[in-house]
Amino acid sequence: MPVETKTTCPYCGVGCGVIATVADDGVVSVKGDPDHPANFGRLCSKGSALAETIDLEGRLLHPEISGRRAAWDEALDLVASSFSKAIAEHGPDSVAFYVSGQLLTEDYYLANKLMKGFIGSANIDTNSRLCMSSSVAGHRRAFGADTVPGTYEDMELADLVILTGSNLAWCHPVLYQRLAAAKAARPGMKVVVIDPRRTMSADIADMHLAIRPDGDVALFTGLLAHLSDSLAIDRAYVQNHTVGFDAAMQTARAHSLTEIAAATGVTIAELISFYELFERTEKTVTCYSQGVNQSESGTDKVNAIINCHLATGRIGRPGMGPFSLTGQPNAMGGREVGGLANMLAAHMAIESAEDRGRVQRFWGSPVIAQKPGLKAVDMFRAVADGSIKALWIMATNPVVSMPDAGAVETAIKACPFVVVSDVMASTDTARHAHVLLPSLGWGEKDGTVTNSERRISRQRGFLPVPGQARADWWQMAEVGRRMGFGAAFAYRNPSEIFAEHAALSAFENAGSRDFDIGGIDRDGYDGMTPFQWPKAEAGKAEVTRFFANGRFYHEDGKARLIPTALPQTDRTSADYPLTLNTGRVRDQWHTMTRTGKSARLTAHIAEPFAEFHPRDAQALGIESADLVELESPHGKVLLRALISERQARGSVFAPMHWNDQFASQARIDVVVAPVTDPHSGQPASKNMGVRARRF
Ligand code: SF4
Repeated sequence: MPVETKTTCPYCGVGCGVIATVADDGVVSVKGDPDHPANFGRLCSKGSALAETIDLEGRLLHPEISGRRAAWDEALDLVASSFSKAIAEHGPDSVAFYVSGQLLTEDYYLANKLMKGFIGSANIDTNSRLCMSSSVAGHRRAFGADTVPGTYEDMELADLVILTGSNLAWCHPVLYQRLAAAKAARPGMKVVVIDPRRTMSADIADMHLAIRPDGDVALFTGLLAHLSDSLAIDRAYVQNHTVGFDAAMQTARAHSLTEIAAATGVTIAELISFYELFERTEKTVTCYSQGVNQSESGTDKVNAIINCHLATGRIGRPGMGPFSLTGQPNAMGGREVGGLANMLAAHMAIESAEDRGRVQRFWGSPVIAQKPGLKAVDMFRAVADGSIKALWIMATNPVVSMPDAGAVETAIKACPFVVVSDVMASTDTARHAHVLLPSLGWGEKDGTVTNSERRISRQRGFLPVPGQARADWWQMAEVGRRMGFGAAFAYRNPSEIFAEHAALSAFENAGSRDFDIGGIDRDGYDGMTPFQWPKAEAGKAEVTRFFANGRFYHEDGKARLIPTALPQTDRTSADYPLTLNTGRVRDQWHTMTRTGKSARLTAHIAEPFAEFHPRDAQALGIESADLVELESPHGKVLLRALISERQARGSVFAPMHWNDQFASQARIDVVVAPVTDPHSGQPASKNMGVRARRF
């Protein structure tokens, strides 16, 4: 009899439910789970091709030490002793973990616990730093906690959906399908796409604002001034539920509409049209993703958006609110367990002595990290300058995905001790590991993930464990045990870890923190159905929207409007006159280690490309399908020219996915500068000066 398993797609932050069926002959097929509230049975091209990516070709199936096959005991002993030695000789801040939004919550929880509570450093950061840390910083400034207010349903209930810095059609395809279906059913609904490129998402848009790169702060600061001028501010809401309105308005009023038009590259007529649409449409949801987050002004962009929703009281109500769309399947779970260098577990603050004491008491740990650790870019700088002596990389490929990827590769090669846990044997990063640990992949591992709307779902194993692969949580528990922290890492299964994570979220809480899942059914892990947090008490209805009561998580219960000064946005120069914007394509995921296995997915776009506006291409003497070299002060890449009217003049777009396994010299992040947002530490991957030439 075929066996069906309900699980979750491992790609984007939509978090679609999947039913995997193993037939009598062992053949696996997948379909969307009609009961999952994220997708109601839909899947996109990547999700529906999952069964094509689960073969064992290229898999890492046994531990390796310096390229030779090793036993688990030997590999784990070496990892534990090398980390212990570095800590003994150079202190706890001489070691680091670089983890991933691909990890399950249980893996993430243990990595954070081991580093912050037992090693005593906060040097654990994640590729989610590259994904949504500006949203985290913006939420914490505005709300006093990293809270996503709304839910996917709000997008369907809204009369106006704004997509800014989000190519929803390619990056969150099932959510785009839901939005398109809602608009088709209710044609009065308006969609505005704000993006320098006319992406596929603009195909359903009533308005496309081809904004200048990083023009978002100016656009939404100008909107705040317009809302005030047109008497659209909800004075009672501002008075009763917010602080900082006058300061935010003062900054907003410092710029004329002409200046806003110049800063955004949008005409005054278009600005007025957009501003008036927002002004008159109460039910508005503003969705934002990497075009907002991956910027030197990413946190200010988030707050400029939230300011407009707070000023009009459009938050915490059906069909309204700012909405951060996370890129990865478990970026949210990572935030919940505190798996970033500047967070503690369960949305507690590492800067707070009270919170540090609370987490240490709960863990019964010998130490607790006293200060924020190194964020991703700084972490690899510390690897480069020799201050990090031992580095453990889990489920991510920074030699391809980090900005200034060439320098990151050089740093990893020179690090005295590097451990890589991965499912694949020969990623660009794995090649430089002293110890390689084989991890379980999708369909083999068990745990939970949280999607963009705070919905926690199970990922379930339905395939046999291949070779000697083991779960990431097990690897970390074994190393923790071998470092002398045995009792605190004596887990038998992910269910026990999740129960501890839930108990910590409720520990000494009494409603003071947003993330509380203490009311989950402790015995119901295996049969868990998707639910939205919080779940503080068993049997109570889910809290669909935060802030419906107008109370926020700052001490006075009020939200903050943040003044957002207009940033410098032009990163071009005479030598590097084009603006490079990097991003995703529809049918690949991250560095292609899994989606690159599917011929069907690869057929969508077969080669890495650089997309030019026709007039730029003409000026550069570049024709369609030419090989072109893109160069910045950090490095160069070779890409195929794609010429398209969708591209804005003066800029070039290149996908983030390709790596040395699939195309030579196509790692775009070799070109990307390692500059970051000052609040979040998130790299700016969408606005840097480059030059191009026909190769
Ligand atoms: Fe997977 Fe995202 Fe596609 Fe859903 S939309 S099937 S989560 S990649």
